[in-house]
Amino acid sequence: MQTFIHYFLHFGFPLFFALVFFKKDWKKVYLILIATMLVDLDHLFADPIFQANRCSINFHFLHSYYAMLLYLGFLFFRRPFNIIGIGLLFHMFTDYIDCMMMFSHCRECLEDSPAIGPLNWTGNLLGF
Ligand SMILES: [Zn+2]
Repeated sequence: MQTFIHYFLHFGFPLFFALVFFKKDWKKVYLILIATMLVDLDHLFADPIFQANRCSINFHFLHSYYAMLLYLGFLFFRRPFNIIGIGLLFHMFTDYIDCMMMFSHCRECLEDSPAIGPLNWTGNLLGF
């Protein structure tokens, strides 16, 4: 289920978004949104590259809070930068939901996560 939600958010939602808000050139917009998934390339700099139960948020440098501020700034530029910004912020949101789902099963697993502050906050807000 978690995997399904993850891929739906990564591929399905951008399609919906492109179709609704950019009817005329939804294909181009969809491609740009999908291309923002390249931010996950920062995982290659991590050691180990893949680790189960790791929350990407604020762990990898393109998933850091500073990077997110930059993505927020992209929203104020012309296309395609604003669309790239939307895609990147949405990617962070998707990854965060992923972390949240992990966190709801096992709070201890993410004890050392650099995103533990917001996770605790959201967890308390949602009541787990
Ligand atoms: Zn990611």
